[in-house]
Amino acid sequence: MTADLTTAPTAVGSAAERLLDLEDRHGAHNYHPLPVVIATAEGAWVHDADGRRYLDALAAYSAVNFGHGHPDLIAAAKAQLDRVTLTSRAFHNDQLGPFCAELAELCGMDRVLPMNTGAEAVETGIKTARKWGYEVKGVPDGQAEIIVMEGNFHGRTTTIVSFSDDPVAHDHFGPYTPGFVRVPYGSADAIRDAITPNTVAVLLEPVQGEAGVVVPPAGYLQAVRDICDEQRVLMIADEIQAGLGRTGRTFACEHEGVVPDLYLLGKALGGGIVPLSAVVGSDEVLGVFGPGQHGSTFGGNPLACAVGREVIALLNTGEFQQRAAELGQRMADRLAAADLPRVKEIRAHGLWLGVEMVDADPSARALCEQLLERGLLAKDTHETTIRLAPPLVITADEADWIVDQLIAVL
Ligand SMILES: *Cc1c(COP(=O)(O)O)cnc(C)c1O
Repeated sequence: MTADLTTAPTAVGSAAERLLDLEDRHGAHNYHPLPVVIATAEGAWVHDADGRRYLDALAAYSAVNFGHGHPDLIAAAKAQLDRVTLTSRAFHNDQLGPFCAELAELCGMDRVLPMNTGAEAVETGIKTARKWGYEVKGVPDGQAEIIVMEGNFHGRTTTIVSFSDDPVAHDHFGPYTPGFVRVPYGSADAIRDAITPNTVAVLLEPVQGEAGVVVPPAGYLQAVRDICDEQRVLMIADEIQAGLGRTGRTFACEHEGVVPDLYLLGKALGGGIVPLSAVVGSDEVLGVFGPGQHGSTFGGNPLACAVGREVIALLNTGEFQQRAAELGQRMADRLAAADLPRVKEIRAHGLWLGVEMVDADPSARALCEQLLERGLLAKDTHETTIRLAPPLVITADEADWIVDQLIAVL
């Protein structure tokens, strides 16, 4: 790892080199970042510790959908910093009620349960579904089953990695949490076959982001919705990465006119400023919680809620969703037109692209290092896929420039 980091051309003999070395020696090696040390950022662009400029085409896995330092979000955060930042839920705060109301309205639902990280929203969704299963559906206690998907990514807690089929994320973290049944992603029949009287929920990503922007077949989400209705099973949509504008709609489920029973939201909800996640659902489902049965010290804190409210206001303009749809299409069309021999498939959904290579020679990682040298930050996934998720504030010229860099290295 050391060799990897220090031999990279952008980091040699520089302020960045010293910082990379510090991180390498004193940080746990649970990531393998590209060798760039970001020091400042604005909009779609970041600067490294030596002043070089890069276009950020990952946007912190969609947490920075509105760009770095969006003025409205920064203003909301700064104003709230001067008022009150943390109260705990032992008391009320004046941002929580409006945040819940505004987010429920954005989702077309009744209630919001705020947490911090995405993984906590997923954990909350799992707890909600189990409790609903026992108390509302009548499943025998301790027997609840949740159907999950092959290739899923829902976070890093011990329960969540229990049902991951990625050996890197899963192995050697057991004993694992039982109660999950995994089926192939994209097959409604597989879900139908896996349902038993004890099934309480189907948990899925409407687009699998970490898997490499895998878009399910048309009609899949609607079929899942129908099966869940027939079988009285909750449909839980993990829109932590797909939601809040990325795919060209507020929610990826909207592309099929589907409304799940629970939305799991995170990442962009905190505006790239604070961790903020939420579970959003109906009175019947989220109503299962009583005082003391779930919570979080930081969940629903006024600083996060103030930023979240501004995020919702930005989404209510519709502008970001429209940009994502238009610019994503433009990028996908230009890439397809370039007819690159090394490209096997381009998967695009809004401003979210997975460019899959015919083989791993050179690897997607090596290609991302070449892109880095050209001033473009992108992320490899699974050896053969380059993932692009630029902030939704990029211009058409910047979108074209991203495609030009890809064409140059491919
Ligand atoms: C990132 C992500 C999570 C986990 O969110 P964290 O904030 O990293 O805990 C869960 N689900 C999906 C789909 C994600 O992309």
